[in-house]
Amino acid sequence: MKFLIFVRDFLEKLEATAKRLEMFAILAELFQQADADEIDKLIYFTQGELLPPFHGINIGMSEKYLLRALAKAGEIDPESIAKQYRVVGDVGGLAEQVIRGRGKGLSVSEVYQSIYEIAQMSGEGSVERKIDSVCRLFSSVSPVEAKYIARFMTGKLRLGAGDATVLEALALSRGDRALRKDLDRAYNITSDLGLVAKTLFESGIEGIRAMSVRMGYPIRPALCERLSSAEEIVEKIGRCSVEVKYDGFRCQVHKSKNDIALFSRNQERTTPMFPEIVEACRNLFGNQEVILEGEALAYNEATGDLLPFQVTSQRRRKHGIEDMAKAFPLKFFVFDLLYLNGEDYTHFGYADRRKKLIELIQKKSPVMEVSQAIETDQPVEIQKFFDASIERGLEGIVAKRLDAPYAAGSRNFNWIKLKRSYKGELSDSVDLVIVGYFAGKGHRAKFGIGTILSAVYDPEEDRFKTVTRIGTGFSEEELVQLKNLLDEIASPEQPHQVDSEIVPDVWVFPKYVITVTADEITRSPNHTAGRDAEGVGYALRFPRVQGFIRTDKSPQDATTVGEIVEMFNLQKRVKME
Ligand code: ATP
Repeated sequence: MKFLIFVRDFLEKLEATAKRLEMFAILAELFQQADADEIDKLIYFTQGELLPPFHGINIGMSEKYLLRALAKAGEIDPESIAKQYRVVGDVGGLAEQVIRGRGKGLSVSEVYQSIYEIAQMSGEGSVERKIDSVCRLFSSVSPVEAKYIARFMTGKLRLGAGDATVLEALALSRGDRALRKDLDRAYNITSDLGLVAKTLFESGIEGIRAMSVRMGYPIRPALCERLSSAEEIVEKIGRCSVEVKYDGFRCQVHKSKNDIALFSRNQERTTPMFPEIVEACRNLFGNQEVILEGEALAYNEATGDLLPFQVTSQRRRKHGIEDMAKAFPLKFFVFDLLYLNGEDYTHFGYADRRKKLIELIQKKSPVMEVSQAIETDQPVEIQKFFDASIERGLEGIVAKRLDAPYAAGSRNFNWIKLKRSYKGELSDSVDLVIVGYFAGKGHRAKFGIGTILSAVYDPEEDRFKTVTRIGTGFSEEELVQLKNLLDEIASPEQPHQVDSEIVPDVWVFPKYVITVTADEITRSPNHTAGRDAEGVGYALRFPRVQGFIRTDKSPQDATTVGEIVEMFNLQKRVKME
């Protein structure tokens, strides 16, 4: 497909609509016209990325360098282009004005290849080489193509078609919505939409069904449902394994014969951050190939005490890793085995996976151990285990159904969390996406942020729906940092993916997730989350932010509308008792 066709007939149309059905139709049409050798690239383009983030390749072009490339291609002096940029306010719009050529009819694959090569350039003189290559690319395309290339390269292409939308459109492009289940599974075990689509194009739905977990491709995490007592847990899943719930970073390890990669909760590569986990795996597994999952947290070497999340979170950084590793050593509590020496373990029941896991990690390692657990069908035993965990300063427990396979990417009652809760407080925190902010009055005005408008995720519609306005709770330093971060992703209008009745002073694209506690969930006509036919949705009462931005969660990992409704119902039940 010609890049011009892709841009003119699809990207321009996608950008112009906020309606889900129209988006599905545009994408489905695009997929019908695409060839097998370009479908992955088309999908990565629509996601605004060169490859899924876990591949570790970024386009990484700052606006500053892009402007230099544009100035060169458009034969304008750098100062005037900077001025023009301040007027236009969007790199895409600017590129469209500056580039005047008719284009050379490049294909999607050719444009992708050029950008890929630019992203790969490194070392001495690479900045100048990059600028020259981007300039050459701009000189080979028409204004409208330049608009999307400029946005794509600076990370500003936001079409609002998330992974759920792409998967739905893929199924529709084959005229069969029922394919969605298999496509979802393939995506959940590989986290790579381009790979899933390419497999569908090359080997059909049979190829999709035959896909299994693969080394180096993070598996999307199985997640916990909530219940409010040990009795309810036993009633729901009977005899179960009850594990300690550790409050640190979820970490998935992929160890092949020669290579080890670590991935975060949202499938980002975090290998360099935790050298002791890498080393422990190398020592423990020798020549074996394994995929494991667990929770990493800081502990006190002298006392053996596990440390709170705030301490562990200091390990998530890019610099000074050696010093941090010394100051805050980690323990890695492994709670699942997903792959071993050529065999996909996600299909096996929990009890079988756990048995093998214990065999595998028998050898004592100072860093790695299997998560602590008991097996029982007695609520009193669960309660005792829960109380003991809380006394140790841990978060609570996770009960697991003994025969359940690993449900990649889904939240269901195979795993049930029970957390400590205080009177007059929601039994669990929620993770919300910031979609806008109000400038604030009084002394807060000096930081430019008074309250933030926050939303939950609706996976059915692939949209974000508001549930609360939060008077932050951030420190002054954090407020300054937050304002800078939010202004970088400010949107001149309400983003298509945001569903809100409330209009903030500044809209922002859904990107940052924060953890919030509240007193309770109430019904509210002001918020769009879970709105019924009468227009009444749900809202959080007296929300408070915990910590800062959750870098291990992407917007689609936020609490969902369905969870808010469930939590509302759970809360009602507790109140009645
Ligand atoms: P979620 O990960 O479910 O979206 P969250 O990040 O807010 O939400 P919780 O819901 O509080 O975390 O708990 C689930 C998380 O608990 C898991 O993602 C995992 O990182 C962590 N965890 C700690 N101990 C265990 C365990 N033994 N088994 C499974 N998960 C555990």
